[in-house]
Amino acid sequence: ATPTALLVGTGRGAQLGILIKGPEVLESTRTVDTIVLDKTGTVTTGRMTLADAVPAPGQDREELLRLAAAVEAASEHPIAQAIVRAGADRSPLPPVTGFANLEGLGVTGTVEGRTVLVGRPQLLRDRGYRVPAEVEQAMVAAQAAGQTAVVAGWDGAARGILTVADTVKPTSREAITALRRLGLTPVLLTGDNETVARAVAAEVGIDEVIAEVLPADKVDVVKRLQADGKVVAAAGDGVNDAAMLAQADLGLAMGTGTDVAIEASDLTLVRGDLLAAVDAIRLSRRTLRIIK
Ligand code: ADP
Ligand code: MG
Repeated sequence: ATPTALLVGTGRGAQLGILIKGPEVLESTRTVDTIVLDKTGTVTTGRMTLADAVPAPGQDREELLRLAAAVEAASEHPIAQAIVRAGADRSPLPPVTGFANLEGLGVTGTVEGRTVLVGRPQLLRDRGYRVPAEVEQAMVAAQAAGQTAVVAGWDGAARGILTVADTVKPTSREAITALRRLGLTPVLLTGDNETVARAVAAEVGIDEVIAEVLPADKVDVVKRLQADGKVVAAAGDGVNDAAMLAQADLGLAMGTGTDVAIEASDLTLVRGDLLAAVDAIRLSRRTLRIIK
């Protein structure tokens, strides 16, 4: 009876838009007690839009947006895409040379002879750029409003901030309630700022937040929970999430995400929404009961 039950389980899985890597995956769905959820693209849509561009005193708003967009044009980050769409709407973007993507921090490149940096304030400070108090205050205000904010600067100083808005997926809250009923404690994990992460967590009903984590350190969060005796599921979509998904006892990839994340995972949620994670865990547990 065992092979038949498995076939039924995986066949039904395919109907529900859940791709299961192998039968050994089912067992871990029984024991998981914690689920680590990546914020951008997993709990939220990850389709960001530019909310505002706030120049530092004496700076020009259009110039701020144009130079930031020019550098971000070489990045695939959702923040970058929001800035580029808004910037390219106004004027053709000047070319960038010497582009570098600084994982989890921001981007840099040379535009019209200026070394432009866009990213976390710390990135600019680390490179010796001055960050005026007004820019600092604008960051804090944006974050308090739940918006992700990045700083753009050139010629040794921060020149303003760009804020982007992301939206929670319509099913995330319901899915998190259902995951709790299945006995899983949700944890929100992100590279984004703590205040913004808390706002998203509150919106979907998550109490535990781990914010400002660098991409390379996401896997350590999973390891630490495991060392504390937790059996950990993790859900993510990005290249950044692959190591975390591979380390988790149960790795769940959003089907709308990157191939790297899908390859590293045990289960793929084709529709890319967390209700499918609920279906997957329920279905796997039911299938195991039939086998046993
Ligand atoms: P997440 O965990 O939400 O997917 P990341 O780890 O990709 O976030 O990024 C963390 C933070 O680093 C962002 O919130 C932003 O401040 C900064 N950052 C990363 N990439 C970029 C970029 N291309 N442009 C500007 N800022 C960036
Ligand atoms: Mg993500």
